[in-house]
Amino acid sequence: MSYVIAVSNEKGGTGKSTTALNVAAALAERGHKTLLIDIDPSFGLTRMLGAKPESFETTIRDVLDDENPATIHEAIQELKEYKNLFFVPAHTKLAVLEARFEPFWERLLANALAPVVETYDFVLIDCPPGLGFFPINAYVAADLIVIPVQTEFIAFTSLDKMGSYLGGIPEDLRPAAFHLVPTLYDKRTKHAKEVVQELQKRFPEALSKHVIPRTVGFSDSSVEGKPFIHYDPHHAAAEAYRGVAEEIIEIWQSKNENPSAQAQPTS
Ligand code: ADP
Ligand code: MG
Repeated sequence: MSYVIAVSNEKGGTGKSTTALNVAAALAERGHKTLLIDIDPSFGLTRMLGAKPESFETTIRDVLDDENPATIHEAIQELKEYKNLFFVPAHTKLAVLEARFEPFWERLLANALAPVVETYDFVLIDCPPGLGFFPINAYVAADLIVIPVQTEFIAFTSLDKMGSYLGGIPEDLRPAAFHLVPTLYDKRTKHAKEVVQELQKRFPEALSKHVIPRTVGFSDSSVEGKPFIHYDPHHAAAEAYRGVAEEIIEIWQSKNENPSAQAQPTS
């Protein structure tokens, strides 16, 4: 069974696109056929792959547009340098879809994915910040929410917001589980350590054992258009992202064995 993951946080700049890209690359490296989808109108993930949204004939915008429908097949790009990794780019004018108020708008992405989802082991959807059209579409399509959390105390405000927001989505429509990944960790600060301890206390089940350190290499890898795990494969941050991918494989396997629901991110 395929496993669909929404990478989301209400807050911007928490490492969502970085996490989506590197976890997907690590899953693909482990031999799992993986599809990455950029549904962010500011197309950070598309850019991290060294691509320009306007250079693609078909993007996620066409796939989600009822007036000009394209199938998801037409939008999937093969990333030839990386075995098992496939990609759907975003579009600069993606945001126009939000204003259409179509019936069943929250299911557009799930419906678009349906014909291909079972041909992948993992599908990762990189969400924009905020809560609304794009994240909701990802939640409805997903089995798991991965929440990259920057290791600063302000992170708890967004987590609380997400918890109450998700609680308002009918249970059969929202993902059954969530997984928190601490990002941008600066080991020199006491503050960052305290945040990880607090996350541990509040979310003992859902917190990743791997913390992603802050390192300038991430910007450099984006300039080169490469996932960090391939740019600097032996760096501690690359190993940490591989560790997160392993955890996700375990969650996927345990879900296949025991498909019961879990709690939402409320503390
Ligand atoms: P989001 O998608 O949540 O907005 P990004 O993944 O785009 O966040 O990351 C925001 C910025 O922080 C980017 O410039 C990215 O290269 C950088 N970044 C992400 N993770 C790290 C990290 N662990 N160390 C240093 N810089 C990082
Ligand atoms: Mg992003």
